[in-house]
Amino acid sequence: MILEILCVGTELLLGEIVNTDGAFIAREAAALGFSSYHQTTVGDNPERLLEALRLALSRADIVVTTGGLGPTCDDITKNAAAEVFGKKLVFHDEVREDLEKFFSRVGRPMTENNLSQCLAPEGAEIFYNKWGTAPGLAVTGEIDGRSKRIILLPGPPSECEPMFEECVKPYLRALSPEVIRSLNLHLYGIGESSAEAILRPLMEESVNPTVAPYAGEFEVRIRVTAKAADEEEALSMCRAMADRVRATEAGAYVYAETGDPFSAKNAAAVTLLSEFGKRGLTFATAESLTAGMIGSLTADIPGSSSVYLGGIISYSNSVKRDVLGVPAAVLDSVGPVSEECAAAMAQGARRLTGADVAVSVTGIAGPGGAEPGKPVGTVWFGVATKNGTHTEMRLFGGKKDRAKIRRLTAAHAMMLAIRAAKEL
Ligand code: ATP
Ligand code: MG
Repeated sequence: MILEILCVGTELLLGEIVNTDGAFIAREAAALGFSSYHQTTVGDNPERLLEALRLALSRADIVVTTGGLGPTCDDITKNAAAEVFGKKLVFHDEVREDLEKFFSRVGRPMTENNLSQCLAPEGAEIFYNKWGTAPGLAVTGEIDGRSKRIILLPGPPSECEPMFEECVKPYLRALSPEVIRSLNLHLYGIGESSAEAILRPLMEESVNPTVAPYAGEFEVRIRVTAKAADEEEALSMCRAMADRVRATEAGAYVYAETGDPFSAKNAAAVTLLSEFGKRGLTFATAESLTAGMIGSLTADIPGSSSVYLGGIISYSNSVKRDVLGVPAAVLDSVGPVSEECAAAMAQGARRLTGADVAVSVTGIAGPGGAEPGKPVGTVWFGVATKNGTHTEMRLFGGKKDRAKIRRLTAAHAMMLAIRAAKEL
């Protein structure tokens, strides 16, 4: 079944607000098993809204709209829905009672214009709004002899999201015979084009599940998506396909597998914590150019306190020397951006915190600070464990973007920590 999202609001067109409703509904509808091929944003203009609604209904079985349901004169979505189906708007006393209760609860007077919210196209199913005033609606109608549905939701995400969860999901679930589930394989150390070249045969032959690569800033994500009768079957199809991806040459670069959006977005830190956590290991940092980013990314993950002991932001030479114990001779001879300094920083952090694995980063984020033989983007990494200290240098080239160099440094440091944990 095809579902299309239509977001209504001039503010969206002007870029004054970000279309989070569209993204939210898109994710939810995909998970419920609906196919979605177009998404439209249209302003609060009656003719253009009607045109957009007609077009969406010509392509989809269900159109979900957000916005323009409220009590003000620019709230016209309901009128458009009634018009495309050739239905009249009828007044619902029970909505009026619900609104009166809402206003007495919040201690505000109900103004006359609120009564427009009691109107709904004839035969509509009403989703009472516990989170605000404008009720949501589901309207069924016929266009060219084919049955179509429009679901209307309020614009404010604080109303749209819970109403979707509580009212629309059960409504849609009853219509959709299938669910869609995805999982992501996260690859590090391989470029998108190389990954794609390796996986092309698999991508081309796979219809269900599908396999698609996405390039992130420091990683490549391979998304495997399956459609099936129920969640268990969809996930087992995804896992079987993920195993086939892992069996290719690209498999050697996989460092994480994630299912939910939070883990997908924070895959490096989530993986770091799980690899450390399952081995009972602890982690510490000594950060120069990233100044706490590695610690912060780690602490973004709930439960990080059982793994992450802490870190030293050793931005200056004096903190590197006086706190971490980097020998003054190292700083005076080879300087802070050096293998020796990175090693001493990691060892210092491990000594001070007692962590099993301590990672250090020291480098040149730019735009200034380059030295002969040390261009902007030069970063030294140290990893200290009970087995000794590993060091390596990376040159993050490209556009010499300071913020990006710092983010790539943090990501690589986490990858080194994950590797060290696996080797302990
Ligand atoms: P209200 O009853 O508040 O008028 P409404 O259903 O009429 O609700 P709009 O008037 O279109 O919705 O939008 C109200 C507010 O909801 C906007 O100012 C904006 O903050 C938020 N909003 C609207 N559409 C979206 C969207 N697609 N994504 C995120 N926020 C949105
Ligand atoms: Mg409004």
